[in-house]
Amino acid sequence: MTKFTQEQVDDLNSRIKTAEEALEWASDNLHPKVAKASSFGAEDSVIMDIMLKINPKFRFFTLDTGRLPQETYDIMDVVRKKYNISIEVLFPDAKEVEDMVREKGVNLFYESVENRKLCCEIRKVHPINRILSTLDGWITGLRRDQTKTREDATIFQLDHGHGDILKINPIIDWTWDQIQEYIKKNNLPQNSLLAKGYPSVGCEPCTRPIKPGEDLRAGRWWWEEGGNKECGLHIDHK
Ligand code: SF4
Repeated sequence: MTKFTQEQVDDLNSRIKTAEEALEWASDNLHPKVAKASSFGAEDSVIMDIMLKINPKFRFFTLDTGRLPQETYDIMDVVRKKYNISIEVLFPDAKEVEDMVREKGVNLFYESVENRKLCCEIRKVHPINRILSTLDGWITGLRRDQTKTREDATIFQLDHGHGDILKINPIIDWTWDQIQEYIKKNNLPQNSLLAKGYPSVGCEPCTRPIKPGEDLRAGRWWWEEGGNKECGLHIDHK
């Protein structure tokens, strides 16, 4: 694992301004110790398409929490076959999941924010920590206007929570309309839930469609109050 410094990150952000430039830089400087985290949402499909035009050998991983909707497995397979790529599918530790559901039940997340965070921690955060400890950088589909906690994000960031590797957010300043435009123009396959009102697809029990005018992430953990809807993958542990 290579540690980066804030000076290096500032330098990259001052020189590199587009998704293509950022991904070319990642291909030239970090591959194969860089991978894209994908949940096969709209943003992911755009970035994966750009990445594979730059380097067909780029790596992709996804978190199979055990609670994903069938539609996500379907799109995962469509994408795998379309580009002829292999996708690294990460699973949670079986013992941790067994202990959690024995103690708190299978639907623990509806009972408290604490339980919901515990479930995300075991099913998402621990598996991603495992792979990130082997990488120099990871690529995300974050966009600045998705949530308040992402307002200050830049293309390159130091990931303090994962040993100061690089977190690369190539489309951080893209709007939802730009994403849709790219998908249409390039005829990219999409999770069929997107057309059913799910702009952000997560685990099946924790995601529902949004109503017109609602925040794009309002359908995630919809029963929780407040705007900080994160699962712990993108928290800055500084
Ligand atoms: S989104 Fe829901 S089911 Fe998925 S890991 Fe988090 S709490 Fe568990």
